[in-house]
Amino acid sequence: MSEPSLRITEVFHSLQGEARSSGMPTVFVRLTGCPLRCHYCDSAYAFHGGERRSFQNLLDEVAGFGADFVCVTGGEPLAQPEAKSFLSALCDAGYHVSLETSGAMDIDGVDERVSVVLDLKTPASGEAERNLYSNIRLLSKKDQIKFVICSREDYEWSRFKVDELGLAEKVGDIWFSPSWQQVSASDLADWIVADKLKVRLQLQLHKLLWGDKPGV
Ligand code: SF4
Repeated sequence: MSEPSLRITEVFHSLQGEARSSGMPTVFVRLTGCPLRCHYCDSAYAFHGGERRSFQNLLDEVAGFGADFVCVTGGEPLAQPEAKSFLSALCDAGYHVSLETSGAMDIDGVDERVSVVLDLKTPASGEAERNLYSNIRLLSKKDQIKFVICSREDYEWSRFKVDELGLAEKVGDIWFSPSWQQVSASDLADWIVADKLKVRLQLQLHKLLWGDKPGV
């Protein structure tokens, strides 16, 4: 039987720039491939190419960084069926594991120890019709939902979805993130405060520190 493996774009060590563990030293494992094409995508370099690597080879590299947190990202990690087993292998190795997923793939079978960070794609992403709403019932308080907001219309849509889907009762954190250079963080902050929303503003720390580039 062949060793389990994944197609990988990059493995790197940085500070987590998003969501609940923002600011924590984290190893990122970026899987290759994504079936979506969001207008604002900042990781299109992960759509193609990459290198097929065994789980053991990846686990060895991750261990070498000595971090407690591992984030499996993409592309869309769940586009590779082996990703779910790899997430479990990371949990077995004792890491705090998060999964960044587009919300367009079924999260059923993702290890319960993983904190899922699920995007709900807003209309301006161009991919809102890909949202797989059956995923919502599989989320719990360890999980997080992210809205990348490109306009006031996206904000209104996101606010409506938080209410319609009862997200505050389902997940631990709801993040409203301004799309890089499309909505100002201060405008989004003002809207959240004015509407007294129970959501959290997310700034992409890695981009503020190092700019919009791969490997950070
Ligand atoms: S789901 Fe993520 S990786 Fe895929 S196109 Fe959208 S932003 Fe890019």
